[in-house]
Amino acid sequence: MVKETKFYDILGVTPDCTEAQLKSAYKKGALKHHPDKNAHNPEAAEKFKDLSHAYEVLSDPQKRQLYDTYGEEGLEQGGAGGGMAAEDLFAQFFGGGSAFGGMFGGGMRDTGPKKARTISHVHKVSLEDIYRGKVSKLALQKSVICPKCDGRGGKEGAVKKCTGCDGRGMKTMMRQMGPMIQRFQTVCPDCQGEGEIIRDRDRCKQCNGKKTIIERKVLHVHVDRGVKSGTKIEFRGEGDQLPGVEPGDVVFEIEQKPHSRFQRKDDDLFYHAEIDLLTALAGGKIYIEHLDERWLTVDIIPGEVISPGEVKVIRGQGMPSYRHHDFGNLYIQFDVKFPERITGPDGGPMTEEARMALERILPPRKMDQIPPPDAMMEDFTLDTVDPTRENARARGMAMDEDDDDMHPGAERVQCASQ
Ligand SMILES: [Zn+2]
Ligand SMILES: [Zn+2]
Repeated sequence: MVKETKFYDILGVTPDCTEAQLKSAYKKGALKHHPDKNAHNPEAAEKFKDLSHAYEVLSDPQKRQLYDTYGEEGLEQGGAGGGMAAEDLFAQFFGGGSAFGGMFGGGMRDTGPKKARTISHVHKVSLEDIYRGKVSKLALQKSVICPKCDGRGGKEGAVKKCTGCDGRGMKTMMRQMGPMIQRFQTVCPDCQGEGEIIRDRDRCKQCNGKKTIIERKVLHVHVDRGVKSGTKIEFRGEGDQLPGVEPGDVVFEIEQKPHSRFQRKDDDLFYHAEIDLLTALAGGKIYIEHLDERWLTVDIIPGEVISPGEVKVIRGQGMPSYRHHDFGNLYIQFDVKFPERITGPDGGPMTEEARMALERILPPRKMDQIPPPDAMMEDFTLDTVDPTRENARARGMAMDEDDDDMHPGAERVQCASQ
């Protein structure tokens, strides 16, 4: 025997009814008494809520058993209070959305803890600042709960829950189309989706009923030494505040600005140094302006010879490694600037004396392509390449080729048939 039959009576079923019978009874009753079909009938709205509550309890086997054993009282003690809003249950029962409800579907059925949006910002930092580390003070505009009305939007007690939508801001409308009933959700026209109604004269003067005001907030963003591009620095709960939801977060993403002298790869720095041929051969010094106002003096040892494109390394002069106590390396790639020409003292050709001096110093000429003794020999000198002339020539040659080869296809066919 059940303790009481109230919920069964509301749905018009007997306590021994099956789940299917329960379901169909609720369906019939809910459609009949839905507030959208009974706009000016508060009794129907009440009945709709009762039906929903009864069905919510009885459709849950655990709650049904509690109710059967202890009655309505047992439910409250069993922690089943709170329950689901009648509209929510209705929406769940009839499925997530019809063709009309689709566009609101996602947001309405979101059941996770509500949180204000995250404010994301890319913080561009120079390589110097990443090398030394710094604290950036960044200001942002965010909404905070209005301090005058404590986020109510008006005088205490003046803010009323909208009865048209039961405070949800959205209404489920129904439309009969032949044998089908289509449901769709729409912004509540009574409260414009606010879920609440405030009389104009009770509206908070500071926030104008919006519940939040815009505030400027300065955050101290620690740019740690050696931090990598793409690192995210999170300020939990420092984002927008909205009534009834968890405050949002603020996230700064570090982005390293390109540098004029150095390129960075992880903890290593890359530097291009152009040296002249004399320095490459006979040694000298180069100076590199580092990221912390130091100038590195780098000795190129005479006779060690730097080839064009050669890479050398200075260990420990790269970036500080993030949260470690060491440094990456500084790699230097050398471009060797050759003299355009070596002339004699009067600007004329290179002197015999200079040539002999070079021959004495540099490794001997390497002749690995020597023609056979009976080869036919012809003499040439080199001419300077003139790019505009070469381009014009290249185009002219392409045209000549077309003229020569009138029927390229014919030859190919011949080849293929061999
Ligand atoms: Zn409303
Ligand atoms: Zn206010």
